[in-house]
Amino acid sequence: MTHNAGVCPDDTPAPRITPVWLFDLDDTLHDAYRSAMPQLAQAMGCYVQSELGLSAAQSDALRRRYWLRYGATLLGLVRHHGVKAAHFLHHTHELPGLEARLQRHPHDIAALATLPGRRFVLTNAPRAYALRVLRTLGLLAYFDGVITIEDMAMFGQLRPKPDARMLRRVAAKLGVQPAQCTLVEDTLAHQKSARRIGMKTVWFKRWVRARAPRDVRSARAPAYVDCRVHSLRELRLRIGVADDPSGAR
Ligand SMILES: [Mg+2]
Repeated sequence: MTHNAGVCPDDTPAPRITPVWLFDLDDTLHDAYRSAMPQLAQAMGCYVQSELGLSAAQSDALRRRYWLRYGATLLGLVRHHGVKAAHFLHHTHELPGLEARLQRHPHDIAALATLPGRRFVLTNAPRAYALRVLRTLGLLAYFDGVITIEDMAMFGQLRPKPDARMLRRVAAKLGVQPAQCTLVEDTLAHQKSARRIGMKTVWFKRWVRARAPRDVRSARAPAYVDCRVHSLRELRLRIGVADDPSGAR
């Protein structure tokens, strides 16, 4: 395998292209379930109750309905209630004390720094939150760019992951073919969509493994996943980049 492989097939000769890595943020670059998700869920519940005048139970039911139908509460609120996306994102992502709860894995920086190619964060989260997380974790300098939900508007509507047209447009804006891109993600629905347009896919299971039910933890990767890894260091080793002999990793 060469550094140009871009993803980790064991026996397929790789074309010599510069890889473009698209890293999800939450539950990929940090443990969002631990640091942000409980507070985020509470803030979204309060927002829906306050803006739409609903009870807690009605708010929960509505959020669940929009989650199932659109993949995100926000999309349903924008479409059916005239909520402004920027207003929702600002008020639900204030997350007091977030910095103190954030954690990254100690090997991540070395793994990112030596990963060949261009690296971008691709997250459905808002920009202010994404930058806050990346700066606090010391990861921002290791990326060539951060693509957030504000960048995912198409035809006047938000088209976050797993929207395939948005993924195709991201590749086009980066000046590459989808086949040059590898999506590193914890969410399989996003992998499935990325693969449909020709991207390579890495299922990142570090945080999934820690808390998922046993059948999910041990599940085989679906056919649309090129490989699954449990750390960025493992990803680096799988594409043939050796550990730093100085031990800095
Ligand atoms: Mg995620």
